Amino acid sequence: MVSLDIEKARTGRERAVLPDRGPSDIPVDLVGLDRSQIEGHLVQAGLGPKEARMRSRQLWNWIHVNGVTDFSAMTNVSKAGRQLFADRFVIGRPERVSEQVSSDGTRKWLFRFSDAGQPNMPPVDVETVYIPEPGRGTLCVSSQVGCTLTCSFCHTGTQRLVRNLTSGEIVAQLLMARQLLGDFPGGIRPTDGLVPSGDTRAITNIVMMGMGEPLYNYDNVKRAMLIFADGDGLSVSRRRITLSTSGVVDRIAPIGRETGVMLAISLHAVRNDLRNELVPINRKWPLEELLEACRTYPGVSNARRITFEYVMLKGINDSDADARKLVRLLANIPAKINLIPFNPWPGSPYECSDWDRIEKFSDIVNRAGYASPVRTPRGRDIAAACGQLKSESERLSFRQRKALETE
Ligand code: SAH
Ligand code: SF4
Repeated sequence: MVSLDIEKARTGRERAVLPDRGPSDIPVDLVGLDRSQIEGHLVQAGLGPKEARMRSRQLWNWIHVNGVTDFSAMTNVSKAGRQLFADRFVIGRPERVSEQVSSDGTRKWLFRFSDAGQPNMPPVDVETVYIPEPGRGTLCVSSQVGCTLTCSFCHTGTQRLVRNLTSGEIVAQLLMARQLLGDFPGGIRPTDGLVPSGDTRAITNIVMMGMGEPLYNYDNVKRAMLIFADGDGLSVSRRRITLSTSGVVDRIAPIGRETGVMLAISLHAVRNDLRNELVPINRKWPLEELLEACRTYPGVSNARRITFEYVMLKGINDSDADARKLVRLLANIPAKINLIPFNPWPGSPYECSDWDRIEKFSDIVNRAGYASPVRTPRGRDIAAACGQLKSESERLSFRQRKALETE
């Protein structure tokens, strides 16, 4: 057992009794680990249980509250302790490959995660989007690179799944965004966008609405969301974290029970025949089963409504009859409706409904008692809007796979 208190740190004795690390040991990235995992690594490193708990609390705070990446900045940890950390751990950040700022202040970053410490985890490029609004800022986080599903109106759906992101890569998107937006203590806000100033955090809300289907990467997404919500760390309220799913029905109740986050459903059609076409997962879990899962979502109430996303596709799903059916379908579910003007992408087979059609549709929905905001497309000029995300990782992963094959 090793103690790292200051007295012993001065003698340096504790270093002598640390178990040796083999040359093949890769430093463990602490980002994306939960508290008990960090504690476990500290125990493995030779610390007693009590001290491991205390040190893991310190690490937790430095990583998530202060956003440090360098152990030498951890001023309340003895020198020997910092050395122990630096020998065994890293606090990873992706490379920022690019940053685009839209004329409306939306930012899109391309982050490169070079490796997840495992040979079967090729490097990937991931898009993360920041959407500032007066008094709040939303980070749109990716959960996968590509998607196994093939929703016909979605650009991400044309990129086959490269791989799931690890919980570290999901959490790192928020850490990196906070760092770039000056959201950690002592940070400096960029002045070129609409980033909220003053005491408000730049990022107040998180939506799991980037690349991928979060419920097909269940464990990593769950762990990452619990880390987002941890009150001693990143401290994003569960009511300000929303997970969007195309309808992986058997995972909806578990994610609600285990995380308590808000739910959004990519509905987009009110008839099974059309939804089968637009959102093919509907063939496995049709509307009736999806809506039943929503009705019984843990914690759902008028104060915690489910958001239904509905993309407006010209001549496809935008008739008055569709609007009336939508209202009927959601009658006994505490719901919010988000009408999303379709965002075109190169080669997309649809057009966005005309503005007056969207208004008529939204009038019907409003008259039924829903405040149904038409979501203003954000960041369209930098292809950062809903459904426009797609990275080049396909080619990277192919090369990587080739390299692995020839090894
Ligand atoms: N895979 C999850 C999370 C992605 S969220 C899901 O499908 O829910 C992205 C949201 O944008 C989803 O509601 C998706 O249906 C919607 N979307 C996809 N392509 C779009 C496009 N071209 N225009 C507008 N919205 C789109
Ligand atoms: Fe995947 Fe969601 Fe796009 Fe469908 S809408 S292809 S589930 S990312």
